[in-house]
Amino acid sequence: MDENKKSCDLCGLAVEVEGFELKTLEGDKRFCCEGCKGIYQMLHEAQVLQEEADDSKSTTS
Ligand SMILES: [Zn+2]
Repeated sequence: MDENKKSCDLCGLAVEVEGFELKTLEGDKRFCCEGCKGIYQMLHEAQVLQEEADDSKSTTS
């Protein structure tokens, strides 16, 4: 079908604005809005890869 148009991985609506993406263990997910991205991130927290790997828990004593 039309594989050029990506649909939101949460609600299924067509993604018309890029930028709401998440990297997960299953690959890149794309969303139609910030809200969908946030909800997906909460629901699949274990699968979402952190893009900014800062040293938040690199406390070695
Ligand atoms: Zn959506």
